[in-house]
Amino acid sequence: MTSDSAAVEVLNRVFGYPSFRGAQAEIIDHVIGGGDALVLMPTGGGKSLCYQIPALVRPGTGIVVSPLIALMQDQVDALRTLGVRANFLNSSQDYEERRIVEAEFVNGELDLLYVAPEGLGVPATQRLLDRGKISLFAIDEAHCVSQWGHDFRPDYLGLSMLHERWPDVPRIALTATATSATRAEIATRLRLTGARHFTASFDRPNIQYRIVGKNEPRKQLLDLLRTEHAGDSGIVYCLSRASVEKTAEFLSQQGIPALPYHAGLDSRTRAANQSRFLREDGLVMVATIAFGMGIDKPDVRFVAHLDLPKSVEGYYQETGRAGRDGLPSTAWLAYGLQDVVQQRKMIESSDGDTAHRRNLSQHLDAMLALCETVSCRRAQLLAYFGQDAAGESCGNCDTCLTPPSSWDGTIPAQKLLSTVLRLQRERGQKFGAGQSIDILLGKQTDKVRQFRHHELSVFGIGADLREQEWRGVVRKLLAAGYLAVEGEYGTLVLTPASAEVLRGEAKVMMRREAPKPPRAPRARSA
Ligand code: ADP
Ligand code: ZN
Repeated sequence: MTSDSAAVEVLNRVFGYPSFRGAQAEIIDHVIGGGDALVLMPTGGGKSLCYQIPALVRPGTGIVVSPLIALMQDQVDALRTLGVRANFLNSSQDYEERRIVEAEFVNGELDLLYVAPEGLGVPATQRLLDRGKISLFAIDEAHCVSQWGHDFRPDYLGLSMLHERWPDVPRIALTATATSATRAEIATRLRLTGARHFTASFDRPNIQYRIVGKNEPRKQLLDLLRTEHAGDSGIVYCLSRASVEKTAEFLSQQGIPALPYHAGLDSRTRAANQSRFLREDGLVMVATIAFGMGIDKPDVRFVAHLDLPKSVEGYYQETGRAGRDGLPSTAWLAYGLQDVVQQRKMIESSDGDTAHRRNLSQHLDAMLALCETVSCRRAQLLAYFGQDAAGESCGNCDTCLTPPSSWDGTIPAQKLLSTVLRLQRERGQKFGAGQSIDILLGKQTDKVRQFRHHELSVFGIGADLREQEWRGVVRKLLAAGYLAVEGEYGTLVLTPASAEVLRGEAKVMMRREAPKPPRAPRARSA
């Protein structure tokens, strides 16, 4: 029997699927033949079969390295239901439990053995692996080896030894997150330089991308859930634990069943909430980004972000948890000035050297560019991952469905930058966005009077715009790097690029905010 037909036979008999999807067949064939592989496939693309089937076809046990200790039991249970001989080794087990699994492995009674990355670094585990037969190494969530990424796990760096210690065992690394830079980093750090790369399309056509201005985020969210996602399962991401708690409570009070999930909850509550979300219908999980990696729930109908993700990679991965079943789903993000100020501040006060901060900053810039774009979100997202979109407009994102009008905001931008400049030059003062906007609007607040800001020549010169529009101007200037924030209070400061705007050499095009985001029809194509 050729490896090809053996793979199809296992696919039909064990997994009950009629045929392979996308590049699965090619990848599986390559690994069965003993080749190394680096697989980039979006979430829901079907990565697991790419190592599970070769592990079943090749003699010996497939060792799966996964950072998702909390999910190992679930993964193993699911495989056992299919009749696959699977087990796992991790720190949650006691001595006796481990001993049983180890014996199974040595006696050749396992098709798949899941291990935590820290486990593989232990000499005792390495000696154990020498006593059995290994069919392959699968390194899941391989982007965890990237030091620049948001999921960096130091233990992944140690995985480069797999190649040295077991040079004849094929290795397959898999991830849903990878720009070409991350891909190169994975290949280098895991010594996968000779591996064949398989890159699946990153497009998720059934996901409708929408990014709206943030006014009253919880109310906006409620509106979205009530009008478009009543009774649906979904995930709401918040930046802080406090806001997770508050949002979950708010939704529950409004009659929408919601559960909180964040690292501050005890592990039993977390596990209970996660398993309820996976098993029950129509639950909303309100979570920090601690939730979601490895979660395989096919019918998540929406992923909502109440705060700005730190990078496009993070955004793509989090939104990718929607619509794994291919049915229409929504990725909705509310983004406001405060998000930009807060994230810039966080970067500035973060540990690490300048290169690290610059890297964080570049990631944020790409995310902001996606938020501020007036063209197709999907095209921009795919371009970020080095992939061309099928056309210029996808027809299933907010900018394609209701093209935003843009307006020339150069003059307001100049007014705002002059205000910052004057405060600094004439008064030696730095203030946050709120005070600068009050000055432009000509508001007689206590703080304005206290600092005699009504005596500035720029006082009241911006009364032609509404406060919300001014916040949009500041947001845009921050996003484009014409303005920066500094220090603990997020005060506004000019950048070297500000001069271009002040001199009229750079134009500032603004996205016109609809008073309320127009509701777009849900696409029916998958
Ligand atoms: P990933 O790990 O890439 O996020 P999974 O391996 O969890 O994706 O697969 C996502 C879903 O697609 C799972 O429910 C899986 O059973 C299903 N699936 C994968 N390959 C196929 C296939 N060839 N035919 C039908 N369903 C598949
Ligand atoms: Zn589009």
